[in-house]
Amino acid sequence: MIPRNLSENQCQNHSEKPTESQNQTKSKVQVGTHFTDPVNLLEQLDLSPEQMQFSPQANQDFQFKVPKAYVDKIQKGNPKDPLLLQIFPVQQELEYKQGYSRDPLAEAQSLFQPGLLQKYDGRALLLVTPACTINCRYCFRRHYPYDDKGHFWTQINNNIQLINQDDSINEVILSGGDPLSLSNERLAALFHSLEAIPHLKRIRIHSRFPVVEPNRIDDEFLEILASSHLQIIMVLHINHTQEIGTDSKVSLEKLHNQKTILLNQSVLLRGVNDDVDILRQLSEILIENHIIPYYLHMLDRVQGSAHFEVSDEDAVQIHQQLRGVLSGYMLPQLVREIAGEKSKFPIYEA
Ligand SMILES: *Cc1c(COP(=O)(O)O)cnc(C)c1O
Ligand code: SF4
Repeated sequence: MIPRNLSENQCQNHSEKPTESQNQTKSKVQVGTHFTDPVNLLEQLDLSPEQMQFSPQANQDFQFKVPKAYVDKIQKGNPKDPLLLQIFPVQQELEYKQGYSRDPLAEAQSLFQPGLLQKYDGRALLLVTPACTINCRYCFRRHYPYDDKGHFWTQINNNIQLINQDDSINEVILSGGDPLSLSNERLAALFHSLEAIPHLKRIRIHSRFPVVEPNRIDDEFLEILASSHLQIIMVLHINHTQEIGTDSKVSLEKLHNQKTILLNQSVLLRGVNDDVDILRQLSEILIENHIIPYYLHMLDRVQGSAHFEVSDEDAVQIHQQLRGVLSGYMLPQLVREIAGEKSKFPIYEA
């Protein structure tokens, strides 16, 4: 499980199971804005643990955590809801799968310095926090040894120094965890340090917040973006149209108004979005919200996620069909991340 750094988190409501199991009245009101008890969620959705093949063990391996804003978009009574499937801990996660690893991208090796990943030319990826506001079951970082790598924030000045010394780096990618788990104060400090590096042109932020917890895009955060001389790119992670509610649209519009370039990456997930119509609609709604579809990722082969895998053959077929119905700029690149490669790897139709 990814350790949570509570002091970094917007929502310090990780009282987790103790509070909820001690709760005699099985209150439907969750602490703060997150759901942290899967059974409680099912009650809200009129579903049973059996129906969903709930696994407490899977939940223990990687703690269930979902913001209320995301739960509000899940359809009641539907065990196959595409949003529910992404976050619910199920028995299939416990099946050991050959060819699946705990660190599929061998990132532990790319960490020449804790909190800094430099695999690709020109770009440095800064891990700024281990915290996410949502725990996606297929996440390749679900077993990531953040624990062993020390505290990100204490490393960050060191890493900024390293970026400062390497003028081949023109883009810094803020990742984690989700960088927007940091407070605005910390983000502002981080931006200021990066803005002082002369060879830097762009800051890229990888975040799921604008769709899963849109309130996070507050005025203070927008001001950080607006006051930077660096170009800001946000890479969102949206897998299904249903994730984009009215609340998300408002936040996306605000980001667009700050001249932020908006891109989206999706993960191709069995039972969630492995369908031409769903992906076509997703591209349509992304463009409506000024977001360019960037990548369609093949699943990273991380233990516990095999039930989400779409075969290369099916993926290529879906992608080819998409090509036939979408404008070129609306078609995301179908890629796989391969350890040791110099870039994301296109899945060719061969
Ligand atoms: C994905 C990734 C990047 C960014 O790659 P792009 O193809 O530019 O989006 C950079 N560094 C690391 C370590 C990555 O995993
Ligand atoms: S938001 Fe991204 S990093 Fe966080 S759990 Fe989901 S996929 Fe992983």
